[in-house]
Amino acid sequence: MDGRTDCRDIVVIGGGPGGYVAAIRAAQLGAAVTLIEGKRLGGTCLNVGCIPTKALLHCAGLARSAREGDGCGIHMTLDRVDWQGVRAYQQRVVQRLVEGVGVLMRKNGIEVVRGTAAFVKPKTLKISAEKSEIREAGRIIIATGSAPVMPPVEGLRESRHVLDSTGVLQAERMPESMVVIGGGVIGVELACALRALGSRVAIVEAMPRLLPALDGELASRLAVSLERQGIRLCLGSRVIRVADRPEGVSVVVEASGREECLSAEKILCAVGRRPYTEGLDPEAGGLRCEQGRILTDDRQQTNIPGVYAVGDCTGGMMLAHTASVQGEIAAENAMGGQAVYRPACVPSGVYSFPELAGAGLTEEQAKERGIPYRVGRFPLSANGRALIANGGEGLVKVLVGEELDELLGVHILAPNATELIAEGVSAISMEGTVEELIGAVHAHPTLSEAVREAALAAEGRAIHNIPNVTGGR
Ligand code: NAD
Repeated sequence: MDGRTDCRDIVVIGGGPGGYVAAIRAAQLGAAVTLIEGKRLGGTCLNVGCIPTKALLHCAGLARSAREGDGCGIHMTLDRVDWQGVRAYQQRVVQRLVEGVGVLMRKNGIEVVRGTAAFVKPKTLKISAEKSEIREAGRIIIATGSAPVMPPVEGLRESRHVLDSTGVLQAERMPESMVVIGGGVIGVELACALRALGSRVAIVEAMPRLLPALDGELASRLAVSLERQGIRLCLGSRVIRVADRPEGVSVVVEASGREECLSAEKILCAVGRRPYTEGLDPEAGGLRCEQGRILTDDRQQTNIPGVYAVGDCTGGMMLAHTASVQGEIAAENAMGGQAVYRPACVPSGVYSFPELAGAGLTEEQAKERGIPYRVGRFPLSANGRALIANGGEGLVKVLVGEELDELLGVHILAPNATELIAEGVSAISMEGTVEELIGAVHAHPTLSEAVREAALAAEGRAIHNIPNVTGGR
């Protein structure tokens, strides 16, 4: 295949949730699709992100159950955590899913090329694979993902003990102690998992609160819960220096002008991710970029007609589910459609203990935008299923627009919040009102009843809560 070859209809660069979904949708629409991926299919999410992390958290949840079973009369002892066994379990799950993506590629007639792609000029790629080739492609969908950011902290780059999320998941031994830099989604999830498996963990977060993108009230409640689990929180704190020691690493943290030295076996650096386009040379392809991200319109098209970009490489919310939806949209437009990416709301989920999830506006966003709203709150301590699941820890919060009674936001701190949030996503996407949510019968006993009760509370008529305690009208 050396030299110039004819292009197939659509070339997709990257085999993660953005790229492989785009490839399938394009194939469904009749395109001949080539997908180029240098590593394993599935991208960060399947291989070293969402899926292995959630598998790790599943194992951590079992360890918690073993410790806490006594409370309901089931006496268990947690003998030991076999980290290699935990890793093997993660890998089995990952392997199944990655193989599944391979099957989907084959069954949809998608050609998968193991290699990397670089623009040599607009709409022309150099594909470095077993045999290199130059391909002209009329339509290209870029889905190259993201990479972790490393903050400019003295000693951090030089330290032998700094891991990113992939490094933690692939560590040969479970770290006995860890300082997590960054109290965002990755920091909180991995801190929860490792703490439950027996590590000593501290989180250092620069902002005065954890999870700055999520609802503040629920994030504060989660912070209290994390501290109860034994996770040390250093909020409003900056890491200013890191130095390796014979027995691990020391981390100097500054807060309100005072310095403190934390020591640990490892550091997890989780201060965010940046769009990844290294080696792609988007500029050679004539693509407009800004701070490393490829710019697109709401049809996912770049400044070059016929070239699209989706997911993390375009910046914005770096979530697998946004990448996949954008992939579908890019594929439809590449096939002559007029699809736009303008979702009514995109759910966020943190797979902590308990889980935290949100859809629509947070209370902070409603205030910032000057939107008049009222809030309904319902504590999970008044929900039977939650009492059974976790002793009733958590809260549901519903934001309702004063003008139209429309649902503005749903925020849930609860066991399985990342599943429960789907109701909020559907209701907000369909421009539902609070009365419509209330009008839907919710099965009993379920955690989902707490969502309806929070909606009732916004109307001042929660049934299973004491009047005037939960806010509302
Ligand atoms: P993030 O943006 O969620 O959080 C990073 C945190 O680090 C922020 O709270 C920020 O204030 C803090 N921070 C930044 N610089 C700091 C410094 N020098 N010292 C201390 N704190 C500092 O980033 P992340 O947790 O690394 O996750 C990366 C991306 O992956 C995000 O876009 C996230 O949404 C996505 N992700 C999503 C999920 C999920 O949906 N469950 C899971 C993992 C990752």
